[in-house]
Amino acid sequence: MAQWFTLKAEHPDALLFFRMGDFYELFFSDAEAAASALDIALTARGTHAGEPIPMCGVPVTAAPAYLPRLIRRGFRVAVAEQTEAARKPGSGAKGPLARAVVRLITAGTLTEDEMLEASRPNLLLAVAIVADRTLGASFIDISTGSFETAALRDAGALMELLGRLDPAEILAPAGLPLGDHEHKRAPQQLAPDPEAARKRVARLFGVANLDAFGSFSDAEAIAAAVALDYVRRAQAGRLPRLSHPIAAAETGLMGLDPATRTSLELLRARDGGTGHTLFSATCRTVTATGSRLLGRWLSAPLCDLAALQQRQAAWRFLQDQPRRTALLRTILRGAPDLARALGRLSLGRGQPRDLEAVRQALRCGRESAAALGEEPPSSALPVLLRQAHDRCERGTALEELLGRALAAELPARLEDGGAIAAGFDGELDAQRHLRDDGRRLLAALQLDYAQCFGVASLKIRHHQQLGYVIEMSAAAARGVRTDIPPAGRQDRLLLFRQGTASLSRFSTPELSDLDRRIAEAAGEAERRERLVFDTLVAQVLADPSLPALAESLALLDVAQSCATLAAGGQWCCPQLREDAGFLLKGARHPVVEAALPRGERFTPNDCDLSPGRRVMLLTGPNMAGKSTFLRQAALAVVLAQAGLPVPAVEARIGLVDRLFSRVGAADDLARGRSTFMVEMTEAAAILHQAGPRSLVVVDEIGRGTATLDGLAIAWAVLEAIHGQLRSRAIFATHFHELAELAESLPALRPHTMSVREWKGEVVFRHEVVDGVAGRSWGVHVARLAGVPEPVVRRAARLLAELERTRALTAPALPLFAQAEPRGEQGAPEADEVPPPLRAVLDALDPDVLTPREALAALYRLKALL
Ligand code: ADP
Repeated sequence: MAQWFTLKAEHPDALLFFRMGDFYELFFSDAEAAASALDIALTARGTHAGEPIPMCGVPVTAAPAYLPRLIRRGFRVAVAEQTEAARKPGSGAKGPLARAVVRLITAGTLTEDEMLEASRPNLLLAVAIVADRTLGASFIDISTGSFETAALRDAGALMELLGRLDPAEILAPAGLPLGDHEHKRAPQQLAPDPEAARKRVARLFGVANLDAFGSFSDAEAIAAAVALDYVRRAQAGRLPRLSHPIAAAETGLMGLDPATRTSLELLRARDGGTGHTLFSATCRTVTATGSRLLGRWLSAPLCDLAALQQRQAAWRFLQDQPRRTALLRTILRGAPDLARALGRLSLGRGQPRDLEAVRQALRCGRESAAALGEEPPSSALPVLLRQAHDRCERGTALEELLGRALAAELPARLEDGGAIAAGFDGELDAQRHLRDDGRRLLAALQLDYAQCFGVASLKIRHHQQLGYVIEMSAAAARGVRTDIPPAGRQDRLLLFRQGTASLSRFSTPELSDLDRRIAEAAGEAERRERLVFDTLVAQVLADPSLPALAESLALLDVAQSCATLAAGGQWCCPQLREDAGFLLKGARHPVVEAALPRGERFTPNDCDLSPGRRVMLLTGPNMAGKSTFLRQAALAVVLAQAGLPVPAVEARIGLVDRLFSRVGAADDLARGRSTFMVEMTEAAAILHQAGPRSLVVVDEIGRGTATLDGLAIAWAVLEAIHGQLRSRAIFATHFHELAELAESLPALRPHTMSVREWKGEVVFRHEVVDGVAGRSWGVHVARLAGVPEPVVRRAARLLAELERTRALTAPALPLFAQAEPRGEQGAPEADEVPPPLRAVLDALDPDVLTPREALAALYRLKALL
């Protein structure tokens, strides 16, 4: 227990997996937490301060299955192994075996395939803040060795980065808010000063100065050092092979704030799932590395026309060559996850199958290059494909070496033996021969002994503690002599080792000797095999071009995925320009379309936001398809600026610098903000950031408050988007009154979702047409949803009544519109009101007027003007 307390004190915030023979055991509160998280039995073992010590355990072999469950629930695990070999009985040494924490397993420092999601990166992100309050971040994926930094303007930029990267674990200074990512915060780490940080990172990569890799702000350098220290600590001093840090240019990216990201469900749906997302609707990749790259593209759309055209050219080339693409796809299907295999190898955690993955990847690379390099010659390939081709086409030396070295049937773990093929290493073969020879001798010895001792059923067996022993039934054992050697052979004198009621175990000097020789040979063979394996690993790691091969295979996979998607003719290649144009013809929402019940067809719609008509006002009842239309426009932009095909017949898009989407339930009540407050915060974010190159799609601003309030706010926001921000926008609303703005705002076009009534039922056509919604269909939707008929009928009567009275108040709106310029000059002076008018106004009490009296009062007032 003293040993346990020492190790636990080093890792107070982790569950301590304490190795005891074939089990990892947990004690005290660790045991209670793990037993409940894993649903395993909680027992007790020994006592501490007079109380039983709570304990639970998992078999070492089952740990890979249990660990991910703990990590997913936010635990961190410190693994304490026995660092001393089990002692032979009688060795004289006393006390518990030495143990040390060999690894800290946290969400951001995983390498095992069992614990990683194949199609997503697994990032550890560190943030640092310096005295002038500038922020910097650094993110590492130790499973692949990628290492980047980013300078951040402000806390908003940090939120955008977190939204884009969705890291698994975050190291941040205490007090720096992490928004929705708060639960990923790791215990606070010590941050070095900027100079020390720069030195530390530079030293790791063997350069004198960090500037060798680009320019890094102080905050970026500190964040990088903090992340590196954490990784090193988690790996008990070992660092994986990492690419040198790259200062990510945030400038070429399209602005996409966290609310927009959530609203668009790019990689994750609102419910946290991955099923109904833009990613799932567009992904046709066949490898894990390919799907990770596609995810990166989708979560970081670009504003860089040249880069986007390169991506488009790559997949269009493949789209035009279906046979070549089919071949490429077949080849890539066999491509392993090279990046992660290299990650494990570089951490010394590699297994035979990781070397095999390298060999397979080299083969796939060679075959892919050949598939690409057929007519036309590779010089005619679009630039991204040519680069990939050149990186895939490389000598076959390493591939051949691994081919000769690795056995045809690989063991799961190196220590199981047999990973290296016979004939590859002479010394290994000799050791194995010796070991196997010994085993053959044993078989012969068993026959010999059966005869010699006259016990036909005698067996020679391997026993965990005793080594090789002679086993016979207790009855037979009573008949053999242990006092004199058989036939005078001293080396066959039976020595009693162990017995049960039914079974006796013996050895002889001859058997012990053979046992030792076999164990030695087996040990030698194992050591030799590890040496050969390590040499191969070193050769693999010394090859600097393998990470580029992994990237190239991923790129080819994404390109073929796009070509496959576009091949059906339902997805087009968007025309991208550096202007403010925007036209989608026959566009669809890929996720809603995929989720439609069988037999239902998605209704495509056009969306024209060209400069003269760049603000679209969309009215229509609930369920008519407004949100779908809004989102599909935003998704088309994300896809186009990720360089991917767009689900439309035709798309022309002037590059969007920032995209704002506020569609769907903005339900932030958990954080104690009302729906209206959320709406207004989001409106404020748009009004502060959107500009003439932005696209804004908003659903029902102002719905969270009283009608007039809401209308007023929606009105003002719409005017600002139209006039001051000059953005392209689609604005869905229930306030039909807003359509009147079309008269005063030249670039505003009212549209509505067409709805028909058929035999008393409402039919949604999901078609966007010019104009304003003629009437409210809410009552019909209520019926559709199963609201009881009497309530529906009562609502219909009330509606008719309300519509009649509202007709009387309609003139209030233009008054409201005219009030706006005055507002800028301040409130009207009291003496601007003519005295007779003032007298009537003073006499009016609106709260007690009937509608009729109010109308009469209005006429009177007008007559007085
Ligand atoms: P609203 O925002 O107007 O309430 P939604 O956009 O949420 O309506 O659409 C409601 C449902 O109608 C969607 O879940 C989808 O099943 C269907 N739908 C929407 N647009 C289309 C379309 N263009 N074609 C076919 N079905 C559609």
